[in-house]
Amino acid sequence: MVRVRFAPSPTGLLHIGNARMAVFNWLFARRHKGAFILRIEDTDVARSERKHMEQLMADLHWLGLTWQEGPDVGGPYGPYIQSERLHIYHDICRKFLHDGLAYRCYCTPEELEERRQVAKRTGKPPRYDNRCRNLTDEQNKAFETSGLNFTVRFKVPEEFLVFDDLIRGACQFDMSLVGDFVIMRSDGTPSFHFAVAVDDTLMQITHVIRGEDHLSNTPCHILLFHALNRKPPQFAHLSLTMGADRTLLSKRHGAFSLSEYRKLGYLPEALLNYMMLLGWAPKDKKERFKADDVIETFEISTMSKSSSVFDQQKLDWLSGQYLREAELERLTNLAIPYLQAAGFVSQDENTIDRAKLRLTVDTVRNNISCMSQIVQEVNIFFNDIVISENHIEFLSSETAQSILLSFYNEICKTNTLSPEIFKDTLKTVQKETKVTGKGLYLPIRVALTGREHGPELYGVAHILGIDTCKKRIERFLLVKK
Ligand code: GLU
Repeated sequence: MVRVRFAPSPTGLLHIGNARMAVFNWLFARRHKGAFILRIEDTDVARSERKHMEQLMADLHWLGLTWQEGPDVGGPYGPYIQSERLHIYHDICRKFLHDGLAYRCYCTPEELEERRQVAKRTGKPPRYDNRCRNLTDEQNKAFETSGLNFTVRFKVPEEFLVFDDLIRGACQFDMSLVGDFVIMRSDGTPSFHFAVAVDDTLMQITHVIRGEDHLSNTPCHILLFHALNRKPPQFAHLSLTMGADRTLLSKRHGAFSLSEYRKLGYLPEALLNYMMLLGWAPKDKKERFKADDVIETFEISTMSKSSSVFDQQKLDWLSGQYLREAELERLTNLAIPYLQAAGFVSQDENTIDRAKLRLTVDTVRNNISCMSQIVQEVNIFFNDIVISENHIEFLSSETAQSILLSFYNEICKTNTLSPEIFKDTLKTVQKETKVTGKGLYLPIRVALTGREHGPELYGVAHILGIDTCKKRIERFLLVKK
């Protein structure tokens, strides 16, 4: 059975580039009816925090991802948090020492740094020179009794290592360029390489799907798999996501963490759809799809070898499409906290006029790409509008005045402004003034909203209600009727 894992380090909020790795692991597991496992790699004690772990789990759940094994749901190969597995790493490290696969290294960090500098100056690879590998028994004894700190290093064979990457094909590494690497630090914590290989072995991981930034780590992991008597899993190194300037995606490019997108009120299914488009496209090249639509046809080998480019505008476009089609009741519920925070609706949900709110959300949903933007859009319904000098001048023109006056006179004849009445009213105004299209709409829009763009005007008028519409028009009628 296919078993894949997403193995984040809980050192901060889950960035969209990293979360994308989770998405493709999850997709792959579903494609092959396998298991998706969440493992927390928190051996960097200084930078890891439990609150980050909890946040990232909540964010992945929000995105719609579920895992069959993980810190919160348990599973047969737990614990799934590396800091709770230290005894496992220690046992295996002891076995490696006993079997001569690894050795104690007493070189101090200062000595190592000095040798690195010398290697650099003399143009040699900055690898560890393996000097503690061949200590004599006496030297070893002397070090042991000296009480000096030591690390444990794995003996790297000087060989060419070849493996087949599911995306990149054959990858070759000259291991003579890699020195014996640390598997256990002097503080008793396992190195990244060691913990990953031990866990992937014990958790029976069949496919390692991760970022191409890990490609150079893979040969070390393969050596460890061999030492652990385990056939290495298959590897797929996904290309990374860049900003438009071709540097690794970061906040600078307007890309946020999952938490931030969630706070901004993006719909999770829209974000998930966008993330699946980074470095992959379904066969039919459709841009809008659900994970369920593509499960059957997802082939990891078709993922792009070159980096994808994050495009906030495209995400916003896609997100807008989802908002237009989402269930209105759901959007209304999502809108409430933003409107409450802006002071537009009551904190007591029972006193909110839901029918009006639904109408409001329905009217503005075409103009937003995430729910937090609703605040700017609905401002015109809850606050007095401010009209700029330019707009005042515009509304004073002869044509604008004739439109406003005709519109005003018409709405004075009715006591409601339903969309139907509004549309009929405009027909009459058009007949009277002989102005059509945008020329007709614009003065009314500017007078009612203070803006030149916005939601459909009939919806705006309906929400504002007849009295507010009249008041807003009256302000600009130079000749009182
Ligand atoms: N903890 C590693 C990271 O966050 C994961 C490495 C792996 O997937 O093997 O990059």
